Amino acid sequence: MDVSPVTTRERLDFGAPYGMLIDGEIVPAATTFEVLNPATNRPFADAPRGSAEDMNRAIAAAKGAFPAWAALSAAEREAYMVALYDALEENKEEFITLLSLEQGKPRHNQATFEVNLANPWIPKTAASRLETVVLEEDEERRVELRRSPLGVVGAIIPWNYPYLHVLWKSVPAMITGNTVVLKPSPYTPLCALRIGELAAQILPAGVLNIVTGGNELGPVLTESPDVDMITFTGSTATGSKIMAAAAGTVKRVTLEMGGNDPAILLPDVDWKAAVPKVFAAALGNSGQWCIAAKRVYVHNSFHEDFVAAFVEYAKTQSVGDGMNPTSDLGPINNRMQYEKIRELLEDTRANGYRVPLGGSVDDSREGNFVPITVVDNPPENSRIVQEEQFGPIVPIIAYEDVDDVVARANATVFGLGATVWGSDLDRALEIADRIDSGNVWVNEGQSHPLNAPFGGHKQSGLSVEHGNEGLASHTNNKTVVIRKK
Ligand code: NAD
Repeated sequence: MDVSPVTTRERLDFGAPYGMLIDGEIVPAATTFEVLNPATNRPFADAPRGSAEDMNRAIAAAKGAFPAWAALSAAEREAYMVALYDALEENKEEFITLLSLEQGKPRHNQATFEVNLANPWIPKTAASRLETVVLEEDEERRVELRRSPLGVVGAIIPWNYPYLHVLWKSVPAMITGNTVVLKPSPYTPLCALRIGELAAQILPAGVLNIVTGGNELGPVLTESPDVDMITFTGSTATGSKIMAAAAGTVKRVTLEMGGNDPAILLPDVDWKAAVPKVFAAALGNSGQWCIAAKRVYVHNSFHEDFVAAFVEYAKTQSVGDGMNPTSDLGPINNRMQYEKIRELLEDTRANGYRVPLGGSVDDSREGNFVPITVVDNPPENSRIVQEEQFGPIVPIIAYEDVDDVVARANATVFGLGATVWGSDLDRALEIADRIDSGNVWVNEGQSHPLNAPFGGHKQSGLSVEHGNEGLASHTNNKTVVIRKK
């Protein structure tokens, strides 16, 4: 299929207003809201504050576009996705800057990583096919399992990976024949809006719609009778509201939510080699990721040495403005999350836990900066162990007995991910088997293999994304029984 190339332009002139993508047009909203740079907490751009009416127009556009889009062959839809990929690649440097400015993550490392992770994944995912499966066949009849798209998919995303999530949500939905209405987080609307500007030049009108604004737009999407599925990434509190709202019209839901992932360093681990890897697993993206190692359990035999080495390593890492190439970690994305972390730090101080590094925020510093903080051996029932911190604070907890640490690792309502570190692979795998979570990484930090389904157990999620199972979650099963004679 011939998909026309897009015209590109430098788009970091924040004086020019961004528009939402509704029914193939880039449109303003009646009012706008300010987007803040987390490194300064000062506004640097305006985004459209979409209304319920805008959201409903987007839903109607997606519904209208669905029959023709679903009728295309997968190869035809793939060609559109590849054209979108080409446009994103062509504008990659601009997106990396935009991502760093609105999210806070350093441009030279984590923002570059995010864009480079997301882009190549588009054509690979678009090349995947959900084939019809023949379940039974004899001379008289054939039984087939076919798949059909659902219709309109509402995608709701958070602020920690605002570039990647636009694509992780919309591409699998579109390639399987659905149309999409996407709502970014109000803290990070710009990457989505800019993707929308490029997509407007590529995709048929209504196939992808992007509406920005406050949290109040979420229920318009989740309650609409014209939306067939909600795919959500965000907090468990919001996810459970979405599940309730979706019940009214029996929508399909994919929920990717919070976690409190344990990292377990087994007695035989080469703990010195593990220090930088566990640091990255815990504090990458300043701890603002769902699958960050949020509790690090280390065996008593090397606990003290590990904490000392971890602190020494952490001191080599700087926290600063994401646009500064010397910053290893950036600020917290928004004031709401900053205040939550500050409260956790206060609780840690008030309880007199040992804090060998960091521990308090400097309010005189501009921006949402939280220093890397290590909390040494707080009790299991402390807030810093029990709650999802979503920031650069990590508790390192000593344990003696492996069975006991597995029980502690599982004693949570969450079940998103875990990492297990050890020299004896069979032993490490045996522990991995006993962890109740959707993902376990053995001897490596959290990666996202392309064909691996990603999802959480317990209150961390429902259904999966990625891989064939993730694609299938955007479709209905249809069993077709064919009598041949
Ligand atoms: P959040 O739940 O506050 O918001 C997420 C999105 O939901 C935003 O777009 C928000 O506007 C929207 N929203 C808010 N109220 C809504 C409602 N009533 N109905 C519909 N939509 C509504 O989460 P956040 O603060 O943006 O992100 C942080 C959380 O996300 C953390 O708990 C983290 O663990 C989780 N997270 C999970 C994953 C995962 O894949 N499991 C990935 C990243 C982040």
